[in-house]
Amino acid sequence: MVILVKMASKQDNILAIAAKRGLFYPAAEIYGATAGFWTYGHLGTRVKQNWENLWRKTFLGLSPFYFEIDDANIMPSKVFESSGHLKNFNDPLTECGKCHFRFRADQIIEDATKTSVEGLDENALTKVIEDNKLVCPKCQGKLLPVRWFNMMFNVKVGATGENEMYLRPESAQSPYLAFKREFEAIRRKLPMGLAVIGKAFRNEIAPRQSFFRLREFTQAELQIFFDADLIDQCDDWKSVSKYMLYVKFSEENAIREVSCEDMNKKHSIPKFYAYHLAKVQQFYLDALGMPKEKFRFRELNEKERAFYNKIHFDVELDLETLGGFREVAGVHYRGDHDLKGHQEGSKEKLEVMTNEKRVLPHVLELSFGVDRNVWALMDAFYKEEPERVMFKFPGWVAPVEVAVFPLMNKEGIPKLSEKVYKSLSAEFKTFYDESGSVGRRYRRQDEVGTCYCVTVDFDSLQGKTVTIRDRDSMTQVRTKISALAKVLRKLLDKDIEFSQAGAKVESKKEGAA
Ligand code: ATP
Repeated sequence: MVILVKMASKQDNILAIAAKRGLFYPAAEIYGATAGFWTYGHLGTRVKQNWENLWRKTFLGLSPFYFEIDDANIMPSKVFESSGHLKNFNDPLTECGKCHFRFRADQIIEDATKTSVEGLDENALTKVIEDNKLVCPKCQGKLLPVRWFNMMFNVKVGATGENEMYLRPESAQSPYLAFKREFEAIRRKLPMGLAVIGKAFRNEIAPRQSFFRLREFTQAELQIFFDADLIDQCDDWKSVSKYMLYVKFSEENAIREVSCEDMNKKHSIPKFYAYHLAKVQQFYLDALGMPKEKFRFRELNEKERAFYNKIHFDVELDLETLGGFREVAGVHYRGDHDLKGHQEGSKEKLEVMTNEKRVLPHVLELSFGVDRNVWALMDAFYKEEPERVMFKFPGWVAPVEVAVFPLMNKEGIPKLSEKVYKSLSAEFKTFYDESGSVGRRYRRQDEVGTCYCVTVDFDSLQGKTVTIRDRDSMTQVRTKISALAKVLRKLLDKDIEFSQAGAKVESKKEGAA
C-alpha cells in the first residue's frame, strides 16, 4: 500500500502510486535519471496502449482513406532545413549571471506575472524581465538577456559520424516525406490521411511539470492532405452542422458554445476544419468520457501560432494537478507549407493530379501528445476516499479489467484459481495475485484502477461459484464459474448493473490495507 503523505499534492500522490505500482517512473532511475525521460511500467504501457487504440479506432475510422504509417526517428538534416526546424524550432532562454542556471524565459515571466507572453521576440521578453525586476528563482542573481535556443537533438551517424542527422521533433514530418509514395499506393485521390503514433524528441530547456513537458514523448498525429479549393466542402457536414463546440476565442475570456454551422458562417472557419473540430471534441467527450466543463478549444491568434498555421485551435483540458486548462492536442491548418518546403528542398515534384487538375495539397493536422493525454486520464480518474485511493478508470482505460485471487493457499484453491485466471486471460486484461490478505489485494487493485476482482474460495470448490467484487461500490456478488466470462463482459460493456451480476454477498468490512 502506498503511504500518502497527508499534505502531499494530488500530483505527488499520483506519481507515488504510479512508481510503486508499475505505471510509470523516471527512466534510468537507478543511475539518477535525467529530467524529461520516463519509463512506462507493465501497467502504464497498457494504459498508454488503450488510449492509442481508441485514438486509432476514432480517427482512422473517419475515412477509408486514412491510414497509419511507421517511420524512422532519426532523419537527415536536409529534412529539417526544408521544414524550417533548424532555423525556427527555438525556445527563449535566459541564464542567471550568478549561478548560470538556465531557464525558459517565457515560463519565468508567466509564473511571475500570470500573463501570457507567447509570440514576443527576444528583446521584448528581455524588457518584460527588466520592467518586472525578475531575478533568478534559485539564487536571486541577475537574469541575462533572452536568446533563442534550438530544441533539436543532433545525432552523428556512421563510423566517422559523417552523416549529420537529427531526432525528429514531431512525428508530422514522416507523412510529408511519404506523401507521394502513399498517394500512388492508396488511390490517387484527395483527401488522404496519414497517421503516425510515434516518438518525438525535443531538448526542452525546463522539462518540469513532471509528465507534461518531456524531452522524449509520444505523439499521435493525423496529417490530412486535401485540395485547398475544397476546404469549404465536407461530405458529412449534416452530421455535425448543429453540433455545439466549446470554444474560447483568442480575443475573449469566456468559453462559448458555438455550433459548427456558426463557426462556419459567423467565424469563417471552413467546413472541412470545423468538421474535424467536432470529431476531436466528440473523441474527448464521448469516447474518453471527459466532463464537458473540463474541455475547451482555445483559438491562437496570429502572434501566438506558428507563421505557417492559417488556423490553429488547441485542445485544452482543465487539470487539477496542473492548476487549470492545459494544452493536450492541437488542430492546425498548415496550408501548403510542408509539401512546398520538401518539394523545394528535395527537388522532387510533390504536386499530384486530382479532379483533373494539378495541385500541391494543403494539410490539416490533428496533433495529440499521448503522454499528456495519459496524464489527463490519471488526473481525471484519481479519487481519494477515507480508507483508500483509487483510479476510477472505465474498463477501456483500466490496465487491469479483472484480477483473480485465490482466497488462501490451501487445498485445491490455487489450482482452481489458476484455471479461472487462464479462462479469462484470453478475453480480458487480467492480473493474478496471491500475496497478502484479500483486503490488501483489493487495495492494491484499487490503486491501479482494476474494475473487478474475482475471488476463489472454499465454496468455489464445492459449488463452482466465485465472488466478484466491484471497485466503485466495494460490494460483492457470487456467480457461477461457467457464466463468469459472460457476466464480466456485460458488466464492462455496461449492459447490466452490478446488482444483476449474481447473488448478493452480505458485505463484511474489507480488511485493512
Ligand atoms: P507547448 O506549447 O506546450 O510546448 P507545442 O504547441 O509546442 O506545445 P506541438 O508542437 O503543437 O506542441 O505538439 C503537439 C502536441 O504534442 C502538443 O499538443 C502536446 O500534447 C504534445 N507535446 C508537445 N511538446 C511536448 C513535450 N515537451 N512533452 C510532452 N508532450 C508534448
